[in-house]
Amino acid sequence: MRITVVGSGYVGLVAGACLADIGHVVILVDSDQKKLAALRSGEVPIHEKFLPELLQRHRDRNLKFSGDLQAAARSSEVIFIAVGTPPTEQGEADLSYVESVAREIAGAIDGYKVVVEKSTVPVYTSHWVRKIILRHGVKPGSFDVASNPEFLREGTAVADFLYPDRIVVGADSERCASLLRAMYAPLVEGSYYSRADAIPRPDAAHIPPPLIVTSTKSAELIKHAANAFLAMKISFINAVASICESVNADVKQVCEGVGTDRRIGPRFLNPGIGYGGSCFPKDLMAFRAVARECGYDFRLLDEVIRINEDQRNRFVRKVRSALWTLRGKRLGVLGLAFKGGTDDIRESPAISLVQTLLQEGCQIAAYDPAARERAREVLNDSVELVDNCYDAARGADALLLLTDWEEFSALDLSRLYREMKYPIVIDGRNLYSPEHMAAQGFTYYSVGRPAAAPENQPAARSQVGDADPS
Ligand code: NAD
Repeated sequence: MRITVVGSGYVGLVAGACLADIGHVVILVDSDQKKLAALRSGEVPIHEKFLPELLQRHRDRNLKFSGDLQAAARSSEVIFIAVGTPPTEQGEADLSYVESVAREIAGAIDGYKVVVEKSTVPVYTSHWVRKIILRHGVKPGSFDVASNPEFLREGTAVADFLYPDRIVVGADSERCASLLRAMYAPLVEGSYYSRADAIPRPDAAHIPPPLIVTSTKSAELIKHAANAFLAMKISFINAVASICESVNADVKQVCEGVGTDRRIGPRFLNPGIGYGGSCFPKDLMAFRAVARECGYDFRLLDEVIRINEDQRNRFVRKVRSALWTLRGKRLGVLGLAFKGGTDDIRESPAISLVQTLLQEGCQIAAYDPAARERAREVLNDSVELVDNCYDAARGADALLLLTDWEEFSALDLSRLYREMKYPIVIDGRNLYSPEHMAAQGFTYYSVGRPAAAPENQPAARSQVGDADPS
């Protein structure tokens, strides 16, 4: 099938490369000429596992890059819109990029085409995209607008696209649904998975994935509801972690007891410094705005957002209670990306915490395996960006773990101990066991678990708001 994907960012680029890998001929369109030049010359503009392999496999064969949206759309049966939908100041989704793409697509419809929303958009957007295209004089029967929300996670985006839990197709006509069913057939019928060169199957993947056909409105709502539910799970366990800290209980044990209930499940029950990234914060605000417009006051979402913001404040209080005063303290920071496996720093809790600690007068040396250059654009020279974990720890009053990169959970602890001025680790991602860290000589604070200290040190008691520095 000939497919155009408009927008070559985290979603469009991955979707385009994966659609090429399952056998389609794909044109990736972007308005950013620098990005196009980089992609054409073989660069991979984002850090994403398996993406370099896929781009190399398909570049200049069944994957091309173009700045000419209309020409690409004219030659395609399916046109994906995968441009950004950032928040407005009022928290609604800014759909101006989607609208401008829809207008351009309208000029290219010269036979039956399906225009697919891949961007995360509020319910009714498909209705508006259709209206815009019709306003340009396009005949109603010559196109359909579908919603095919994307559930990939940055860091595992390629595997998530090719081994999804489910594929949701929102289509309001059988013709449109059949075309998209045929497009996903290599996944849904399983032929992709028997190929020798298929991207390796993740452990938990169920193949083949189900394809769920809904109305376009339901599909649009599924994406917002799914993200809101996941964010709620994170805020819920963070709230439980706060109670654990007050009573010296262990949230890890609580999670095990709660998450083994199959109705709840263990995933997304990881307490930490709160959710971030380019999706949850903006999608929650957009969903709340959609609900408000529909006359429903979705106050549960207000609380999810409030708990999430509070989680960062609690972490700063934790640093303060570990170090007493902050001005002039040297902190090592591990992790700047909003989560492990990606270089994306959009709405990263790590970046926001670094900025707060700088305002408090701390000096910071930070290391991130992939997000260094993107972080430099935001932090400029305010932070020393170093080449590895041990350089970040050197001479530090405390080390802060802010992103759950795999390599941060396998540190050489004796080397770390030698590098630091004081062996204090404040772990916002619960990567270590408190007992183990104490046995290695560290005073260790984490989220929702009792603080731990070596035997010869005064025992650190509760974690946040502890007036007693012992
Ligand atoms: P992004 O900012 O990384 O990419 C958007 C791309 O669109 C950019 O390269 C930009 O140059 C391009 N673009 C903007 N206007 C254009 C135009 N008129 N013509 C051609 N190209 C244009 O954004 P992203 O993270 O890929 O997200 C895209 C959408 O997918 C958003 O709605 C987001 O909510 C949704 N989404 C993102 C994720 C994720 O993990 N990043 C996951 C699921 C869904």
